[in-house]
Amino acid sequence: MLEVITGAMEGGKTWLLYKRISDAKLMGKKVQVFAYPVHDGHVVSRVGFKSKAITVPTVAEIESQLAPDVDLAAIDDAQLFDKNDLSNFCNRYRCKFDILIAGLQLNCFGENFGAMVELMGRAENVTVLLGVCEHCKQQKALVSQRYRDREHTIPITKDDPKIELRKEFYAPVCWDCFRPPI
Ligand SMILES: [Zn+2]
Repeated sequence: MLEVITGAMEGGKTWLLYKRISDAKLMGKKVQVFAYPVHDGHVVSRVGFKSKAITVPTVAEIESQLAPDVDLAAIDDAQLFDKNDLSNFCNRYRCKFDILIAGLQLNCFGENFGAMVELMGRAENVTVLLGVCEHCKQQKALVSQRYRDREHTIPITKDDPKIELRKEFYAPVCWDCFRPPI
């Protein structure tokens, strides 16, 4: 089975991921948690928990570290993995064990992020978690606005690199308030 937890930054994706991991362990399942190496060896949620994770930069490395008796493989920050590799991984293994994918739905250009949207279309269960918009303060943020500074005063332009891993340069915003880089 394939489950996708997605939506905005600060929407609670990692919190829900953590609940799923905890529940699976209570059910006696063998769980492995993988994450893109943003955080050092951990999956970290802003609501204050940490879970050990195997941090790997490629899907091939996830595959090479799979335990033969795994029941649930959870992958956090899944939007950062290669789109085709992650998609193929889910196709290959979803009938052998459960796969839980957590990651951002859209990048700071307002585009589909990595394999997330494609996987949403093929998953048995999808949860989209909205954040609180930095501008209008409504709970409908889905996009990430990116800035060049931590004070969030200088928006990026089209020429900035696609991905900046430091979260302090981003804020969750709704579609009404989102200003795509120009
Ligand atoms: Zn807004």
